[in-house]
Amino acid sequence: MTRLSAITPSDRAHLGNHLGAVRHWARDGHPGDLYFVSDLHAMTVSYNPARLRATTRELLAVLVASGIAPDRLFVQSDLIRELGALTWLLECACAFGEASRMTQFKQKSDGQAMVRLSLLTYPVLMAADILLLGADEVPVGADQRQHVELARDLARRFNTTYGEVFAIPRAVMPRTAARVRDLSDPTRKMSKSAQDSTGTVFVLDDPDLVRRKIRKAKTDALGRVEHDPAGQPAVSNLLEILAACRGTDPRTEAAGFSEYGPLKEAVAEAVVEELRPIRTRALELLSDPAELDAIRKAGADRAADRAAHRLSSALRLAGVG
Ligand code: ATP
Ligand code: MG
Repeated sequence: MTRLSAITPSDRAHLGNHLGAVRHWARDGHPGDLYFVSDLHAMTVSYNPARLRATTRELLAVLVASGIAPDRLFVQSDLIRELGALTWLLECACAFGEASRMTQFKQKSDGQAMVRLSLLTYPVLMAADILLLGADEVPVGADQRQHVELARDLARRFNTTYGEVFAIPRAVMPRTAARVRDLSDPTRKMSKSAQDSTGTVFVLDDPDLVRRKIRKAKTDALGRVEHDPAGQPAVSNLLEILAACRGTDPRTEAAGFSEYGPLKEAVAEAVVEELRPIRTRALELLSDPAELDAIRKAGADRAADRAAHRLSSALRLAGVG
């Protein structure tokens, strides 16, 4: 059984990625699970190549430093040849109307100066990620379910039209983990693609910067500390972060505070301590290119080995290769 999850280097890893996903990948993953840095997906909107390369490397270091076994990790572009080939086969099995119906395309293309064709076809690349590696389960939020459905449809269609080659993947709900909201605007989730990063704590932020960001976090006007996400979203977000770091419950934490100042100090210290070992190890990996390069190369080789037979069968069945 293989479960496949990814993180996109649209920007640096943040506390939401850590508490909501990466920490659980490291703790509760199954031995067959695979994780990758989806750098090809970051190219579907305007981006800077040097920064993409650096962010990809940083995310890989953060995943390793977070405790995910290196033999379960790879970088997507290290399989660009295999994925490019399979994407083409799948595009040839995908209807234009089917690709055009993806609702995320409509949201993400809105307001872009130039809408890249790859933004439209990216769900087909995502299908290639899933099918190339033979993933059975793909844990995704509501925004990505439609893409996993597309991967299922394409796999079935290919198998029926040309011959059995792909496992049929399923979308599964990710384990309900903390949903971290932006510290300056708790109506939004903490996100890599936020316009303004004052409300985003990055995993590799210096501890003093983490403390400053948390001290500046928005609070609610009520002057009480209660866990009430609807009535007090900002304070509730802080309580949820504190509880996630301490392994407690936000309501229990609320009982320990009557003012915002001490709450923020406690959250800042808990976050700094939570991130400290990851930051230390990631910075070590980033300062020693040889170790990280070796991890990356081994991951690429393993993923390519895993993909080779399936890709050559698919090419042969499709009448090419
Ligand atoms: P982008 O803004 O580019 O979509 P992102 O911050 O949403 O970036 P992703 O790469 O899309 O990050 O997601 C990586 C993982 O982190 C996913 O499993 C996603 O559910 C999780 N995640 C992202 N943001 C949060 C958050 N604020 N709270 C909890 N989990 C999150
Ligand atoms: Mg996202």
